[in-house]
Amino acid sequence: MDIFNMTAIQIGKKIQNKEISCIEVINHFFDNITNKSNGYITFTKNYAINKAKEIQNKIDKGENLSILAGVPISIKDNICTKGIKTTCASKMLENFIPSYNATVFKKLEDAGAILVGKINMDEFAMGDTGRTSFFGGCNNPWDIKKSTGGSSSGCASALAYNEAIFTLGSDTGGSIRQPSAFCSVTGIKPTYGLVSRYGLIAFAPEFDQIGPMTKDALDCAKTLEIISGYDKNDNTTIKKNNFSFISENFNVKGLKIGVCKNFIEYSDKEVQIEIINAINILKNMGAIIEEIELDVIEYSMPTYQILSSAQSISNMARYDGIKYGYKPKNIDCLDQLCIQSRTDAFGVEVKKRIMFGNFVLKNKDNENSYYKNAINAKNYITKQFKNAFDKYDILLSPTTPKTATSFDDTTETDIFLASSNLTGAPSLSIPCGFTKNNMPVGMQLIGNYLKDDIILNTAIQFQKNTDFHLKRPNIK
Ligand code: GLN
Repeated sequence: MDIFNMTAIQIGKKIQNKEISCIEVINHFFDNITNKSNGYITFTKNYAINKAKEIQNKIDKGENLSILAGVPISIKDNICTKGIKTTCASKMLENFIPSYNATVFKKLEDAGAILVGKINMDEFAMGDTGRTSFFGGCNNPWDIKKSTGGSSSGCASALAYNEAIFTLGSDTGGSIRQPSAFCSVTGIKPTYGLVSRYGLIAFAPEFDQIGPMTKDALDCAKTLEIISGYDKNDNTTIKKNNFSFISENFNVKGLKIGVCKNFIEYSDKEVQIEIINAINILKNMGAIIEEIELDVIEYSMPTYQILSSAQSISNMARYDGIKYGYKPKNIDCLDQLCIQSRTDAFGVEVKKRIMFGNFVLKNKDNENSYYKNAINAKNYITKQFKNAFDKYDILLSPTTPKTATSFDDTTETDIFLASSNLTGAPSLSIPCGFTKNNMPVGMQLIGNYLKDDIILNTAIQFQKNTDFHLKRPNIK
């Protein structure tokens, strides 16, 4: 039985039915994993083998574990795992070993999922190609000359290469959804505050959210059920627990979907064709489709860039050669230690963000013309979303205006995504078609605040009626 062709829930069911043991699953994983994707920075074989024995014991004793018990999970390397290297794909944290677990990892461990590796990404989650990683870029199996997207590049790439079963990524301005679209996997950025950020190495705390990236929407929903809920260690979490995102009786019939007309017009012709086809599928399933114009395209990226860079500088300030990470040798003065460690150990993209963030907050004038205006723009975008959700259950658009781009293409492919981070709305990407050149197209479904269940159940139903998510690339 090749576990790499199976979803997390399918493997979990086989484990529960005693058709296969956790130990067999983990051995199969490590006997066959190749890392062609370059999606992994670290493999956790010893940890996983020990855990597999422990979990199998619990299952044999009849303990009540989740359906994901014994299933291998791969986690983005900006999520802290106690005793296991967590690098943020940076030279700065190349040898950093956290002394505590992120809440999401603790919850998954408690549910019995088994960590098999830490996942490659853009350095400190800054980027949209995966190429800013200190450990080299990830590969896109749909076309090796094209980007995987980022910053959760390794999650998407490892899933597409059939080198991961299910994964956790993070999304500050599109980092789960954009690579999901480029590599044809399913990923959700949950409502802000639904999932604890405790133990997520911060980029821009007002927008950062952890979310699952998986082979289908069912795995995505199940994983989100496990990781969501109140956490006393993160006071931005919503004071609620036991969320449920899978409903057998959910019906798309009568659902009001606002199709973002100007997002579609902004996209390449071949993306338009596939999105229109997907909209027709939803229409045939009974959804009520109407067109809407959201006046956010022009504002979302500059707003996101100003606010996220400004927030990032205080997070990046802790890397000073003293408290964390890389330390240059033969330095005899404190200032020089700080300067040299940052010069040596941060990549170009991280340095750019730090400089831009400092520029934005440099003095009162800059603060007024950049930061304050960005806050106004954010409020304007939030109002547009609010008005739209007075009328619609879901807003629909392409995930990206283009399919996976070549490395010299500087198109802002996050342009439809950052608004959901600015407003806190839940938003997911699912495969919805392929171009003539066999490149995947993603569809974004945005939900109202805390209506993650609606977009997830719609995605589950969509995937019951289509097989875009089942199509695999030809891997040579
Ligand atoms: N691509 C965006 C950026 O580089 C988003 C990153 C993210 O969501 N972590 O800022």
